[in-house]
Amino acid sequence: QPVGQDSEKLHVVHVTAEMAPLAKVGGLADVVTGLARACLNMGHKVEVMLPFYECLPRDQITELTTAEEFSSFHTGDWSVVKLYRGKVSGIPVLLIEPSNHFFKGSRIYGGSYNELEAYLFFSRACLEWMQVTGTQPDILHVHEWQTSGLPLLYWDMYHHLSLKKPRIVLTIHNMEHYGECRVEQLSMCGLDGPAYGTIEKAIDDRTIGHNPERLSLLKGGIVYSNAVTFSGILNGIDTILWDPSRDPYLPARYDALQVEGKQICKQYVQRGLGMEVSDPQLGLNSHSKPIVVCITRLVAQKGIHLIRFAIDRLNQLGGQFILLGTAPDWRIQGEFENLVHQHKRGNSVRLLLTYSEELAHMLYAAADFVLVPSMFEPCGLTQMIGMRYGAIPVVRKTGGLADTVYDMDDPSNTHKANGFLFEGIDEGSLNGALERAFKYYLENPNGWTSLISRVMSLDNSWERSARDYVSLYKSVQVRW
Ligand code: ADP
Repeated sequence: QPVGQDSEKLHVVHVTAEMAPLAKVGGLADVVTGLARACLNMGHKVEVMLPFYECLPRDQITELTTAEEFSSFHTGDWSVVKLYRGKVSGIPVLLIEPSNHFFKGSRIYGGSYNELEAYLFFSRACLEWMQVTGTQPDILHVHEWQTSGLPLLYWDMYHHLSLKKPRIVLTIHNMEHYGECRVEQLSMCGLDGPAYGTIEKAIDDRTIGHNPERLSLLKGGIVYSNAVTFSGILNGIDTILWDPSRDPYLPARYDALQVEGKQICKQYVQRGLGMEVSDPQLGLNSHSKPIVVCITRLVAQKGIHLIRFAIDRLNQLGGQFILLGTAPDWRIQGEFENLVHQHKRGNSVRLLLTYSEELAHMLYAAADFVLVPSMFEPCGLTQMIGMRYGAIPVVRKTGGLADTVYDMDDPSNTHKANGFLFEGIDEGSLNGALERAFKYYLENPNGWTSLISRVMSLDNSWERSARDYVSLYKSVQVRW
């Protein structure tokens, strides 16, 4: 038996709205890919089911074939669904393509169809496919509100048909969204909607209030799953997709033993974005201008007011700041667009209001610091990705950020220290951390390389967390 392999093999199927890098909006996508790969490496059979969104880049799917055609139920009708098989970054995927209007359009979220109804349709289609093909995985791992309808469909419908073996694990990455659902929407996928209008089933009176017409898919998912994890099991990062020594997007590769390439990445980004370049040949000390990078969805959770503050403050402190982010709310997007204009002539601030995987990779590599000023953060990946690319995190002490970052100025952390923390949600608190971070950077040009080498060597990979998930899978699994 190869080292690291698990003797008892499980068959795990993730049912998810996102998967990196094919269908990625945020951390959910990274989590699914990282966890799936780590479990595959342990010898388990793992597949990922996701909607075949019209906008998916097909060139990222290898070995793509149409496997089955079947019908699934929606509002009184059976409509044709195609299932495609393929691989994404080496991981087997099963893509569900409805023949109706669901999942059409140029974006993963925010299309012109009703998202809640589309994900209920998707959840049922996944079970329907298992039913018609006789596929009985040990574990169905569902994620977020989008696939929280699946446990209801499984236990109240398909388990009474022929699916007996699967058990269900639900992971909640972000409680902010819970899938508010009207009773008749639940009925559309064939369930008896009104039956779920109780506090024991799908009413969440903490968020939606006690109205039997308004249900929470996430609450239903929690009630109907065999196990529920919040990002309480710390996520890892996918060390294949995030690897500065092999990253195809970088102009130079580097690792913890040879970090010189990072300086080339920094200059490349500075030049490319028309910023002042830290190049000794141009007379500028290469260690005089730290770049702070922030890669985030621009929503209140992520500390927008502190990001706004950082833009001006970093400029005053003599550093450079690059934001890569998009705002789902057009007002916030508009506000940041105004800031783009204010800063476009200067050479120390760049606000890139777009989503780009390629830019994200280049920016992590160019960064001296990665800023994560979240109001709350179930786990957070950008601080871990930043560290893997040798960027020191400056983060608010909350949730998973507090679990992964230890302050450089805290004497009890001598061995673990890897970043700068602040506690308050006010500008002064962030400012304190930024000033300490800059002071450290400027006063320790020699120690800096060894600090980033150390931070790059930290193990934030999925192996440890995947073992926790597998133990959980086994604790709910039914043995046949
Ligand atoms: P969340 O899931 O709440 O958005 P995480 O920190 O868990 O936050 O994960 C964010 C992921 O999304 C990271 O992989 C980050 O690099 C990526 N990301 C966020 N915004 C962008 C963007 N504008 N362009 C490219 N990648 C982004």
